[in-house]
Amino acid sequence: MAELLDRFPRVRLAHLPTPLELLANFSKALGGPDIWIKRDDCTGFALGGNKVRKLEFLIAEAESQGATTIVTAGGTQSNHVRQTAAAASRRGMGCQCILERVRTDDLYETNGNALLDHLFGAVPRFIDKDADMDAAMAALSHELTAAGEMVYVVPVGGSNALGALGYVDCAFEMARQFRDQGLHPGLIVQASGSAGTQAGLLVGLALAGLEVPVIGMCVSRSGDLQQQKVSALVGDVCRFIGRADLADVIAVNCDGAYVGAGYGVETPAMADAVRMLARTEGIFLDPVYTGKAMAGLIDYARAGKLKETGPVVFLHTGGTPALFVYPGIADS
Ligand SMILES: *Cc1c(COP(=O)(O)O)cnc(C)c1O
Repeated sequence: MAELLDRFPRVRLAHLPTPLELLANFSKALGGPDIWIKRDDCTGFALGGNKVRKLEFLIAEAESQGATTIVTAGGTQSNHVRQTAAAASRRGMGCQCILERVRTDDLYETNGNALLDHLFGAVPRFIDKDADMDAAMAALSHELTAAGEMVYVVPVGGSNALGALGYVDCAFEMARQFRDQGLHPGLIVQASGSAGTQAGLLVGLALAGLEVPVIGMCVSRSGDLQQQKVSALVGDVCRFIGRADLADVIAVNCDGAYVGAGYGVETPAMADAVRMLARTEGIFLDPVYTGKAMAGLIDYARAGKLKETGPVVFLHTGGTPALFVYPGIADS
Protein backbone atom coordinates (compact mmCIF):
# COMPACT_ATOMS: atom_id res chain seq x y z
CA MET A 1 0.00 0.00 0.00
CA ALA A 2 2.63 2.55 1.06
CA GLU A 3 4.77 1.38 -1.92
CA LEU A 4 2.21 3.03 -4.14
CA LEU A 5 3.58 6.40 -3.09
CA ASP A 6 7.24 5.41 -3.35
CA ARG A 7 7.31 6.06 -7.08
CA PHE A 8 6.59 9.75 -6.55
CA PRO A 9 9.53 12.00 -5.62
CA ARG A 10 9.02 13.63 -2.25
CA VAL A 11 10.76 16.36 -0.28
CA ARG A 12 10.51 15.84 3.49
CA LEU A 13 9.09 18.91 5.22
CA ALA A 14 6.53 17.69 7.76
CA HIS A 15 7.08 16.21 11.20
CA LEU A 16 5.32 12.87 10.84
CA PRO A 17 3.39 11.04 12.07
CA THR A 18 1.23 13.70 13.68
CA PRO A 19 -0.45 12.62 16.94
CA LEU A 20 -3.92 11.09 17.18
CA GLU A 21 -5.36 12.03 20.58
CA LEU A 22 -8.59 11.59 22.54
CA LEU A 23 -10.29 14.89 23.46
CA ALA A 24 -11.48 13.63 26.84
CA ASN A 25 -12.67 16.94 28.32
CA PHE A 26 -14.21 18.17 25.10
CA SER A 27 -16.07 14.89 24.54
CA LYS A 28 -17.42 15.08 28.08
CA ALA A 29 -18.50 18.71 27.72
CA LEU A 30 -20.28 17.75 24.50
CA GLY A 31 -22.06 14.85 26.20
CA GLY A 32 -20.43 12.28 23.88
CA PRO A 33 -19.50 10.51 21.67
CA ASP A 34 -15.73 10.19 22.08
CA ILE A 35 -14.07 12.75 19.82
CA TRP A 36 -10.51 12.06 18.72
CA ILE A 37 -8.32 14.61 17.01
CA LYS A 38 -5.75 14.00 14.29
CA ARG A 39 -3.23 16.77 14.88
CA ASP A 40 -2.29 17.94 11.40
CA ASP A 41 -2.01 21.41 12.91
CA CYS A 42 1.22 19.83 14.24
CA THR A 43 2.90 19.02 10.91
CA GLY A 44 5.54 21.31 12.32
CA PHE A 45 6.89 23.16 9.33
CA ALA A 46 6.26 26.95 9.43
CA LEU A 47 3.53 26.64 12.09
CA GLY A 48 2.10 23.52 10.52
CA GLY A 49 -1.14 22.72 8.76
CA ASN A 50 -2.38 20.46 5.99
CA LYS A 51 -0.64 22.08 3.01
CA VAL A 52 2.78 20.83 4.17
CA ARG A 53 1.83 17.25 3.29
CA LYS A 54 0.77 18.25 -0.24
CA LEU A 55 3.86 20.40 -0.74
CA GLU A 56 6.17 17.45 -0.10
CA PHE A 57 5.06 16.09 -3.49
CA LEU A 58 4.52 19.38 -5.33
CA ILE A 59 7.87 20.92 -4.39
CA ALA A 60 9.65 17.69 -5.35
CA GLU A 61 8.10 17.97 -8.81
CA ALA A 62 9.09 21.66 -9.01
CA GLU A 63 12.70 20.69 -8.26
CA SER A 64 12.69 17.88 -10.80
CA GLN A 65 11.69 20.48 -13.40
CA GLY A 66 14.49 22.85 -12.37
CA ALA A 67 12.14 25.54 -11.02
CA THR A 68 13.66 28.76 -9.66
CA THR A 69 10.40 30.45 -8.63
CA ILE A 70 7.16 29.08 -7.22
CA VAL A 71 3.95 30.88 -8.13
CA THR A 72 0.82 30.23 -6.12
CA ALA A 73 -2.37 31.97 -4.97
CA GLY A 74 -4.90 32.24 -2.18
CA GLY A 75 -6.80 34.70 -0.02
CA THR A 76 -4.87 37.39 1.85
CA GLN A 77 -4.74 35.17 4.93
CA SER A 78 -4.08 31.95 3.03
CA ASN A 79 -2.43 29.25 5.13
CA HIS A 80 -1.52 27.57 1.86
CA VAL A 81 0.47 30.56 0.63
CA ARG A 82 2.31 30.79 3.97
CA GLN A 83 3.33 27.11 3.89
CA THR A 84 4.29 27.33 0.20
CA ALA A 85 6.42 30.44 0.80
CA ALA A 86 8.20 28.61 3.62
CA ALA A 87 8.80 25.52 1.47
CA ALA A 88 10.24 27.67 -1.32
CA SER A 89 12.61 29.28 1.21
CA ARG A 90 13.69 25.90 2.56
CA ARG A 91 14.46 24.60 -0.92
CA GLY A 92 16.18 27.73 -2.19
CA MET A 93 13.50 28.94 -4.59
CA GLY A 94 11.71 32.26 -4.87
CA CYS A 95 7.98 32.57 -4.20
CA GLN A 96 5.57 35.03 -5.80
CA CYS A 97 1.94 34.91 -4.81
CA ILE A 98 -1.40 36.21 -5.96
CA LEU A 99 -3.44 37.28 -2.95
CA GLU A 100 -7.18 37.81 -3.28
CA ARG A 101 -8.27 40.81 -1.20
CA VAL A 102 -10.89 39.04 0.88
CA ARG A 103 -10.94 41.92 3.38
CA THR A 104 -9.06 45.21 3.33
CA ASP A 105 -8.65 46.21 6.98
CA ASP A 106 -5.11 46.92 8.06
CA LEU A 107 -4.72 44.05 10.52
CA TYR A 108 -5.86 41.56 7.89
CA GLU A 109 -3.18 42.63 5.43
CA THR A 110 -0.30 43.00 7.87
CA ASN A 111 -0.64 40.35 10.60
CA GLY A 112 -1.19 36.59 10.77
CA ASN A 113 -0.32 34.72 7.59
CA ALA A 114 0.35 37.95 5.65
CA LEU A 115 3.10 38.86 8.10
CA LEU A 116 4.64 35.40 7.79
CA ASP A 117 4.55 35.47 3.96
CA HIS A 118 6.50 38.69 4.15
CA LEU A 119 8.95 37.15 6.61
CA PHE A 120 9.62 34.27 4.18
CA GLY A 121 10.42 36.84 1.49
CA ALA A 122 7.42 35.98 -0.67
CA VAL A 123 6.45 38.69 -3.15
CA PRO A 124 2.70 39.41 -3.03
CA ARG A 125 0.49 40.76 -5.79
CA PHE A 126 -3.03 41.68 -4.69
CA ILE A 127 -6.13 41.14 -6.81
CA ASP A 128 -9.75 42.14 -6.13
CA LYS A 129 -12.17 39.87 -4.33
CA ASP A 130 -13.63 37.25 -6.71
CA ALA A 131 -11.15 38.09 -9.49
CA ASP A 132 -9.83 35.09 -11.44
CA MET A 133 -6.86 33.69 -9.47
CA ASP A 134 -5.87 31.19 -12.17
CA ALA A 135 -5.73 33.93 -14.80
CA ALA A 136 -3.68 36.13 -12.46
CA MET A 137 -1.24 33.25 -11.80
CA ALA A 138 -0.92 32.61 -15.54
CA ALA A 139 -0.16 36.29 -16.23
CA LEU A 140 2.40 36.43 -13.42
CA SER A 141 4.07 33.22 -14.62
CA HIS A 142 4.28 34.62 -18.12
CA GLU A 143 6.03 37.78 -16.86
CA LEU A 144 8.47 35.82 -14.70
CA THR A 145 9.29 33.40 -17.51
CA ALA A 146 9.98 36.32 -19.84
CA ALA A 147 12.37 37.65 -17.18
CA GLY A 148 14.31 34.35 -17.25
CA GLU A 149 12.82 32.49 -14.28
CA MET A 150 11.86 28.82 -14.39
CA VAL A 151 8.37 28.95 -12.94
CA TYR A 152 6.44 26.16 -11.24
CA VAL A 153 2.79 26.89 -10.47
CA VAL A 154 1.36 25.32 -7.32
CA PRO A 155 -2.43 25.39 -7.75
CA VAL A 156 -4.70 27.05 -5.18
CA GLY A 157 -4.58 25.00 -1.98
CA GLY A 158 -2.07 22.60 -3.56
CA SER A 159 -5.16 20.72 -4.70
CA ASN A 160 -4.41 18.69 -7.80
CA ALA A 161 -3.91 14.92 -8.04
CA LEU A 162 -0.22 15.15 -7.13
CA GLY A 163 -0.78 17.36 -4.08
CA ALA A 164 -3.65 15.16 -2.88
CA LEU A 165 -1.16 12.29 -2.51
CA GLY A 166 -0.17 13.99 0.74
CA TYR A 167 -3.56 13.01 2.11
CA VAL A 168 -3.47 9.53 0.60
CA ASP A 169 -0.39 9.17 2.76
CA CYS A 170 -2.18 10.70 5.76
CA ALA A 171 -4.94 8.10 5.39
CA PHE A 172 -2.31 5.33 5.50
CA GLU A 173 -0.82 6.98 8.60
CA MET A 174 -4.25 7.13 10.26
CA ALA A 175 -4.98 3.49 9.37
CA ARG A 176 -1.77 2.48 11.19
CA GLN A 177 -2.69 4.63 14.22
CA PHE A 178 -6.23 3.24 14.36
CA ARG A 179 -4.75 -0.28 14.42
CA ASP A 180 -2.01 0.52 16.97
CA GLN A 181 -4.35 2.48 19.27
CA GLY A 182 -7.25 0.02 18.93
CA LEU A 183 -9.57 2.71 17.61
CA HIS A 184 -12.56 1.93 15.37
CA PRO A 185 -13.92 5.30 14.30
CA GLY A 186 -17.40 5.59 12.85
CA LEU A 187 -16.87 8.96 11.21
CA ILE A 188 -14.15 11.41 10.20
CA VAL A 189 -14.97 15.13 10.10
CA GLN A 190 -12.83 17.77 8.38
CA ALA A 191 -12.97 21.21 6.77
CA SER A 192 -13.21 21.08 2.97
CA GLY A 193 -12.05 23.98 0.79
CA SER A 194 -9.96 23.46 -2.33
CA ALA A 195 -10.81 19.74 -1.92
CA GLY A 196 -7.36 18.09 -2.04
CA THR A 197 -7.44 17.06 1.60
CA GLN A 198 -10.82 15.34 1.42
CA ALA A 199 -10.17 13.77 -1.99
CA GLY A 200 -6.77 12.41 -0.95
CA LEU A 201 -8.09 11.14 2.36
CA LEU A 202 -11.01 9.33 0.68
CA VAL A 203 -8.76 7.64 -1.87
CA GLY A 204 -6.25 6.66 0.83
CA LEU A 205 -8.94 5.20 3.09
CA ALA A 206 -10.33 3.20 0.16
CA LEU A 207 -6.85 1.88 -0.68
CA ALA A 208 -6.35 0.95 2.98
CA GLY A 209 -9.68 -0.92 2.98
CA LEU A 210 -11.16 1.33 5.69
CA GLU A 211 -14.84 2.01 5.19
CA VAL A 212 -15.16 4.94 7.57
CA PRO A 213 -17.27 7.77 6.12
CA VAL A 214 -15.82 11.27 5.86
CA ILE A 215 -17.85 14.47 6.09
CA GLY A 216 -16.31 17.57 4.56
CA MET A 217 -17.69 20.66 6.25
CA CYS A 218 -17.72 23.37 3.57
CA VAL A 219 -15.90 26.66 4.19
CA SER A 220 -16.48 28.49 0.91
CA ARG A 221 -19.34 27.02 -1.11
CA SER A 222 -22.59 25.04 -0.89
CA GLY A 223 -22.65 21.34 -0.09
CA ASP A 224 -23.66 20.43 -3.66
CA LEU A 225 -20.90 22.42 -5.32
CA GLN A 226 -18.30 21.16 -2.86
CA GLN A 227 -19.41 17.58 -3.43
CA GLN A 228 -18.92 18.05 -7.19
CA LYS A 229 -15.49 19.57 -6.65
CA VAL A 230 -14.31 16.79 -4.33
CA SER A 231 -15.78 14.06 -6.57
CA ALA A 232 -13.99 15.45 -9.63
CA LEU A 233 -10.69 15.45 -7.77
CA VAL A 234 -11.29 11.93 -6.41
CA GLY A 235 -11.61 10.83 -10.05
CA ASP A 236 -8.38 12.64 -10.98
CA VAL A 237 -6.46 11.08 -8.10
CA CYS A 238 -7.72 7.58 -8.90
CA ARG A 239 -6.71 7.90 -12.57
CA PHE A 240 -3.38 9.46 -11.62
CA ILE A 241 -2.40 6.46 -9.49
CA GLY A 242 -3.73 3.96 -12.03
CA ARG A 243 -6.79 2.94 -9.99
CA ALA A 244 -9.64 4.45 -12.02
CA ASP A 245 -11.80 1.56 -10.74
CA LEU A 246 -11.78 2.94 -7.20
CA ALA A 247 -13.57 6.20 -8.01
CA ASP A 248 -16.97 4.49 -8.36
CA VAL A 249 -16.91 2.98 -4.88
CA ILE A 250 -15.95 6.17 -3.04
CA ALA A 251 -18.82 8.07 -1.42
CA VAL A 252 -18.30 11.84 -1.17
CA ASN A 253 -20.21 13.68 1.57
CA CYS A 254 -20.09 17.44 2.08
CA ASP A 255 -22.20 19.63 4.34
CA GLY A 256 -22.64 23.31 3.51
CA ALA A 257 -24.71 24.23 6.57
CA TYR A 258 -21.89 25.87 8.54
CA VAL A 259 -20.31 28.23 5.98
CA GLY A 260 -22.34 31.26 7.04
CA ALA A 261 -22.01 34.32 4.80
CA GLY A 262 -18.93 33.01 3.02
CA TYR A 263 -15.22 32.27 3.05
CA GLY A 264 -13.47 33.85 6.00
CA VAL A 265 -16.64 35.46 7.40
CA GLU A 266 -17.14 34.73 11.11
CA THR A 267 -20.18 32.87 12.39
CA PRO A 268 -21.25 32.74 16.06
CA ALA A 269 -21.11 28.92 16.02
CA MET A 270 -17.52 29.05 14.70
CA ALA A 271 -16.45 31.39 17.51
CA ASP A 272 -18.19 29.17 20.10
CA ALA A 273 -16.37 26.11 18.73
CA VAL A 274 -12.97 27.84 18.80
CA ARG A 275 -13.51 28.94 22.42
CA MET A 276 -14.87 25.56 23.51
CA LEU A 277 -11.83 23.60 22.29
CA ALA A 278 -9.43 26.24 23.65
CA ARG A 279 -11.10 26.23 27.06
CA THR A 280 -11.56 22.48 27.46
CA GLU A 281 -8.35 21.20 25.85
CA GLY A 282 -5.91 24.10 25.36
CA ILE A 283 -5.94 23.48 21.59
CA PHE A 284 -6.43 26.20 18.95
CA LEU A 285 -8.81 25.93 16.06
CA ASP A 286 -8.92 28.63 13.37
CA PRO A 287 -11.70 31.02 12.31
CA VAL A 288 -11.77 30.18 8.58
CA TYR A 289 -11.65 26.38 8.37
CA THR A 290 -11.43 24.21 11.46
CA GLY A 291 -13.68 26.46 13.60
CA LYS A 292 -16.50 26.05 11.10
CA ALA A 293 -15.86 22.32 10.71
CA MET A 294 -15.95 21.85 14.48
CA ALA A 295 -19.13 23.96 14.68
CA GLY A 296 -20.64 21.35 12.36
CA LEU A 297 -19.44 18.46 14.50
CA ILE A 298 -20.79 20.10 17.68
CA ASP A 299 -24.14 20.69 16.01
CA TYR A 300 -24.31 17.05 14.85
CA ALA A 301 -23.62 15.85 18.40
CA ARG A 302 -26.18 18.17 19.98
CA ALA A 303 -28.79 17.26 17.38
CA GLY A 304 -28.36 13.59 18.35
CA LYS A 305 -26.95 12.64 14.93
CA LEU A 306 -23.91 10.87 16.43
CA LYS A 307 -25.69 8.59 18.91
CA GLU A 308 -25.05 5.39 16.95
CA THR A 309 -21.85 6.48 15.24
CA GLY A 310 -19.16 5.40 17.68
CA PRO A 311 -15.95 7.41 18.10
CA VAL A 312 -15.48 10.37 15.76
CA VAL A 313 -12.12 11.61 14.45
CA PHE A 314 -11.76 15.31 13.79
CA LEU A 315 -8.99 16.05 11.30
CA HIS A 316 -7.36 19.28 12.50
CA THR A 317 -5.93 20.90 9.39
CA GLY A 318 -4.21 23.87 11.06
CA GLY A 319 -4.76 27.57 10.43
CA THR A 320 -3.54 28.97 13.75
CA PRO A 321 -1.95 32.20 12.37
CA ALA A 322 -5.34 33.49 11.16
CA LEU A 323 -6.49 33.75 14.79
CA PHE A 324 -4.39 36.89 15.12
CA VAL A 325 -6.49 38.77 12.55
CA TYR A 326 -9.78 37.82 14.21
CA PRO A 327 -9.16 39.32 17.67
CA GLY A 328 -12.88 39.38 18.55
CA ILE A 329 -12.88 35.61 18.69
CA ALA A 330 -11.75 35.45 22.32
CA ASP A 331 -14.69 37.59 23.55
CA SER A 332 -17.45 36.17 25.75
C1 LIG B 1 -6.53 24.75 3.17
C2 LIG B 1 -7.09 24.44 4.50
C3 LIG B 1 -8.16 23.53 4.64
C4 LIG B 1 -8.87 22.91 3.49
O1 LIG B 1 -8.12 21.96 2.82
P1 LIG B 1 -8.39 21.73 1.27
O2 LIG B 1 -7.47 20.68 0.86
O3 LIG B 1 -8.13 23.07 0.62
O4 LIG B 1 -9.83 21.36 1.11
C5 LIG B 1 -8.59 23.23 5.91
N1 LIG B 1 -8.04 23.81 7.00
C6 LIG B 1 -7.04 24.69 6.90
C7 LIG B 1 -6.53 25.32 8.14
C8 LIG B 1 -6.52 25.04 5.65
O5 LIG B 1 -5.51 25.93 5.58
